[in-house]
Amino acid sequence: MRNQLAIPPRSKNQSERVKRSQELIPGGSTNSLLAPDGIEFLIAKGEGKYVYDIDGRRFLDFMLGAGPLILGHAHPRIVKTIAAQAASGTQYFGLSQRAVDLAERFVRYVPCAEMVRYTSSGTEATFHALRLARAVTGRQGVIKFDGAWHGHHDLAVWSMELSPTKIPEPYPVSAGIQHGVREDLIVLPFNDIKQFRATMKEHGHRLAAVICEPVQRTISPIPGFLEALRDECNRSGTVLIFDEVVSGFRLAPGGAQEKYRVTPDLTTLGKAVSGGVPLSAIVGKKALMEHLDPRSDPKTYDFHCGTYNANALGIESAHTTLDILIEENGLKQLGELGDFARERLRATLADLNQDAAVTGEGPLFHFYLTKEPIHDHAAVRRSNLALSDAVHRKMYEAGIYKQFSKGYLSLVHSRDDIEALCDALVWGFETVRQ
Ligand code: PMP
Repeated sequence: MRNQLAIPPRSKNQSERVKRSQELIPGGSTNSLLAPDGIEFLIAKGEGKYVYDIDGRRFLDFMLGAGPLILGHAHPRIVKTIAAQAASGTQYFGLSQRAVDLAERFVRYVPCAEMVRYTSSGTEATFHALRLARAVTGRQGVIKFDGAWHGHHDLAVWSMELSPTKIPEPYPVSAGIQHGVREDLIVLPFNDIKQFRATMKEHGHRLAAVICEPVQRTISPIPGFLEALRDECNRSGTVLIFDEVVSGFRLAPGGAQEKYRVTPDLTTLGKAVSGGVPLSAIVGKKALMEHLDPRSDPKTYDFHCGTYNANALGIESAHTTLDILIEENGLKQLGELGDFARERLRATLADLNQDAAVTGEGPLFHFYLTKEPIHDHAAVRRSNLALSDAVHRKMYEAGIYKQFSKGYLSLVHSRDDIEALCDALVWGFETVRQ
C-alpha cells in the first residue's frame, strides 16, 4: 500500500506552465523560498485543508499560506465575512469603528497591548517596531537572535534559519543592505542566557531594542530565557520587542507572552490574526506607541503611513477569526491536535529508528533529524538537513504540502490527517533509504 502513496506526476502541460512561470517571475516563486526543483506545481484553488494544482491533483496542506490559514482555506464564515464587507467597501484608509473595536480586543487579549497601530504585513510591523524603538530611545543598536525570522527589511535579513552564521558576526542573507546596518546589529544564539546577559552588560546602554520570536520558528524558549530578556532590557532601558507574527493568536489568546508570562514593551502581530487576509499590527505600551502620533515631539516621532493600514477586509476577517479562535475555544482544539501531531511524529520516527527532535507548540510542529535537543539554530544546522530535505521532497510527491522547515495545523485538520502525514513520512524514509 505504501508504494501507492505517490500521487501522479504533474502533466506535460503543467511542466510547460511551470517553465513559463520561471521566465516571468524570478525563481518561479512568490518569494525567496523555492518549491522543490522539478516537482513545483501551480495552485488552482484552496479548499479546507487541501490545495489543488492546475492538474486537479490534491495536496494535504500543512503550509497553510505560510501560517495565516488557521481556519483552513475558504472557511465558510471567512468567505461570508469577506463577501459582506466587500459590499460595504474593501478599503477606507480612514479609521473605521470596527478597527477601533478590534484594537479593543487586542488590548484585552495581549498582555503588553495598550495601544495598537495596524500594518499590512509582518515585515512592516517589525520594521516599525524597531524604528519606533530607535526613535524613542535615541539609540541605534539592536540585538536579534540567530535563526529568527522577522521579515525582509534591512535589519531582518541577517543570520536567518540556514545562514552559515558565525556568532556574533551577523551573516547577511541579502545583498544591497544599507551601509551601517551591520554596525548596529548584534546576533546572539537563542536560549543562551549567559551570553545574552554578558552582551547586555557591555552594550545595553547603546541598544535601542532586543527583538525576538519568543518561540523561535518552532524552538521553545528554555526556562528563564525570556525572563532574562525582560530583566536586562529593564536594566538598560532597551525596548523589548516580541515578534509574535507566528505565535500571536496561535499559542494562546495573548500569544507566547501570555503563555510564558513575560510581557514585552512592543509586540508585532500578523498571520493568524486575520485568517488569510492581509493584516498585521504593532501593539504595545502607550509610552512608546504614542510616538506614532504626528502631534508627538518630532525628535522622537516615528512616521508611519501605509495605504492599506487597517484594511476593511482584514479588520472584518480578524473579528471573525478571533471569534472562532478565542470566544469559541478554537485555540484549545488546535493545541490538542498539535500535541497529538508531535506525539505521533515522535512515535513514527522512533519506529523508523531515526534519531529526531520533534519541536513546536500549539498548532506548530516540525522535526529535526538529530540526536541532540534543539535549543538554537546552531543545533538545527548540525542536524541532518540533507536527509530531512530528501524526505520532505518525497512527502511532496505523496501529496503532502509542508514547508521544509515548519508545519502548521488548522481547525479543519483532524487526527486522520496527522496519520496521513506520518504515513507519508514513513514512505518518504523508505524510498529515500532504498
Ligand atoms: N515575523 C515572523 C516571526 C515571521 O515568521 C514572518 C514571516 N514568516 C515575519 C515576521 C514577516 O511577515 P511577512 O511575511 O508577513 O512580512
